[in-house]
Amino acid sequence: MSDGPIALDDRVDVLAGVGAKARADLADAFGIETVRDLLEHYPRRYQDAGEVLDLSEVRTGEPATLIGEVLNWSTRRVPKRGQRRPLEIAEGRVRQASGRVFTATFFNQNWRAGQLAPGTVAAFSGKVKRFRNDLQLASPDVEVLGRVAAGIDPDAAAERLQHQRLLAVYPATEAWPSFKLARLVEAALERLPTLPDWLPEPLLDELDLLTYDAAIRAIHLPPDHPTQRAARRRLVFDELFTLQLGVQRRRAQLEAEVVGLDNTPVPDGRAQAFLDALPFPPTGAQQRAFAELAQDLGARRPMHRLLQGDVGSGKTVVAVWTLLNAVDNGRQAAFMVPTEVLAEQHFRTLTTLLAPLGVNVLDGIRVELLTSSTPAKARRRILGELLTGDLDVVVGTHALLEEGVRFADLGAVVIDEQHRFGVAQRVKLKEKGGGPTLDPDAADVLPDVLVMTATPIPRSLALTWYGDLDVTVLDELPPGREPITTQLITPAQAARRDRLYEFVRTEAGRGRRAYVVCPLVEAGELPAKDVTSEHRRLSEQVFPDLTVELIHGRMRPDAKDAAMTRFRTGEAQVLVATTVIEVGVDVPEATIMVIEDAERFGISQLHQLRGRVGRGGGTSYCVLFAGWSGAELPEETLRRLEAVAATTDGFVLAETDLELRGAGVLFGRTQSGKKSDIKLADLRRDRGLVEETRARARAVVAEDPDLAAPAHRGFRDEVARRFEGRGVEVVEADGDDELAAFAALETG
Ligand code: ADP
Ligand code: MG
Repeated sequence: MSDGPIALDDRVDVLAGVGAKARADLADAFGIETVRDLLEHYPRRYQDAGEVLDLSEVRTGEPATLIGEVLNWSTRRVPKRGQRRPLEIAEGRVRQASGRVFTATFFNQNWRAGQLAPGTVAAFSGKVKRFRNDLQLASPDVEVLGRVAAGIDPDAAAERLQHQRLLAVYPATEAWPSFKLARLVEAALERLPTLPDWLPEPLLDELDLLTYDAAIRAIHLPPDHPTQRAARRRLVFDELFTLQLGVQRRRAQLEAEVVGLDNTPVPDGRAQAFLDALPFPPTGAQQRAFAELAQDLGARRPMHRLLQGDVGSGKTVVAVWTLLNAVDNGRQAAFMVPTEVLAEQHFRTLTTLLAPLGVNVLDGIRVELLTSSTPAKARRRILGELLTGDLDVVVGTHALLEEGVRFADLGAVVIDEQHRFGVAQRVKLKEKGGGPTLDPDAADVLPDVLVMTATPIPRSLALTWYGDLDVTVLDELPPGREPITTQLITPAQAARRDRLYEFVRTEAGRGRRAYVVCPLVEAGELPAKDVTSEHRRLSEQVFPDLTVELIHGRMRPDAKDAAMTRFRTGEAQVLVATTVIEVGVDVPEATIMVIEDAERFGISQLHQLRGRVGRGGGTSYCVLFAGWSGAELPEETLRRLEAVAATTDGFVLAETDLELRGAGVLFGRTQSGKKSDIKLADLRRDRGLVEETRARARAVVAEDPDLAAPAHRGFRDEVARRFEGRGVEVVEADGDDELAAFAALETG
């Protein structure tokens, strides 16, 4: 039965010619195990094969497909200037049915002579050139049609090719070149019956989408460009819509089992008093955020919102306001941040901001810091007060969630810089305590959750990656932010390093301070600077007249704290640091940010680091040293660094990042190199569909969270099939990769 009907879930070896070895190769090289996988191995691009012509009809310089029989090969080597390896040129003489002969030329592809042994009939597509009275095709695309000995009929082949001018070009390997994959795909499509659609017809009509069957055929064998584009659009819709349905549904399922809390802003409450006491009016963006959050806080549905705002956009004010609304409603609140340094800093900020309302005084707000360095006695007291409800607000690291910390009545949680706060994490919050309820049958309660990030994410990516979160963007900086000048310095401009150090010294004389960031803690395998040696070098050789401090993640908390304090107070003027200082650290007098081996950092990291300066005190400076550890700087790296030097707009940088790295990288990683759910969608190009699918998925899930209605069963099955065993969570859980990468850098 090697030509009977097949099904999408059949293994690829149902196809003729695919044996055990081929099956293993396809799985290794492309992750292709089933017929469906094969069909989802989408073309990388399309080659316009031009018309199938006889040599007498071709016009030079235009694409054409020439079919003929290979007569013989000649190969030669031509020395190439500046290259040790000579250029290998293989020229095949090919005779057409009309008897006319042309030359197919290949460069550094001598294997073609083996692939196209004399007697092979093949179609050669490319642009025809005239060269010394000979017609040539240079580096043509090749489709092997068969061998003369096997009785190939060039006319039949020509007729088929004539229909298929757009030839799919697949991601390929040497063992599995594109044309072989194309054949396999064609064979599969021939044997597949008309494929059912998981989208209902009215929806297809409404959105003007091709059927799945038409789309999957046309993406591989497009009759023309418009049809190919329509096919792509349908398949991208499938990817995004299932993803959105999956993510929205998980959220809906969690929330179906719980009740949200009513944290509606109280008139004349402390949240309002806090705003009234601020020395500045909220920005327009902050006001919009308050309005959006107020809706969530008062809703029966628990808040789960992402607050995105560039460094310095004033997220802390929004965070504090959120916490106070829980307090105003008689509940407790928690503020969680990634590191102890930040926890301490936020605690200080919080006590300062809340000072007008009274902190830890009679009638004031009770706020405590809880970290792993909190002394045992204080810790016991704090835990006790959380349990009795005497403590209003606790500030700590994300570990607050893990430890046995329980609350009398936890109303709101603000989480800074933890992207992976998804369903799994929210489930843990259920156990944190909604207070002893009198009704034993009461459902679990879920506090309102606000996740904050200073990593600007393009909206399309945010809506996909964090699909289950509502998103608020602080897209406006408070007035009076100081400008930051950024420079890129490569070893070719070595003298500028000395000038920079002089400048640091001058600035230090005026009460200003500098950060020097290095990728490593200690000299390690990577050819990159480490803070330990750099601290020694700077304090002993470069700045013997200044005080240079050191801070990194492997130091004891009290030592870190001491170093930070000396830098903050100005006792030290230079702070050598790893990326521990990346988020949130706020020292207004620091006006210089020096980043060593900047090529080791991603765009968002560089942007975050730079955000540590420009917080007051006039113009700030950011200097990116790149290429100093000996390695060449690849083009893409240079573009990244130049982009950072060119703008301080985080959203512009985020778009550049997405463009340079591609969302595929972000999604691709989620399954550790395995197949990604996003194969075709391009979050920049398909922005419209991202919005469309999200809105639709939300509407569907709001009405039918279990996708149980007959009209939605197809959706449910498709979502289950796509995410089977892997969980939609994977997609959101990946957000911390970036942080994990920093941590890895830090520990060497
Ligand atoms: P983010 O956490 O978003 O990086 P912060 O909350 O730390 O930003 O705010 C940065 C600085 O701007 C802080 O010094 C803060 O007091 C100040 N700030 C916040 N909101 C305003 C505002 N509306 N007007 C003026 N300054 C503000
Ligand atoms: Mg902040």
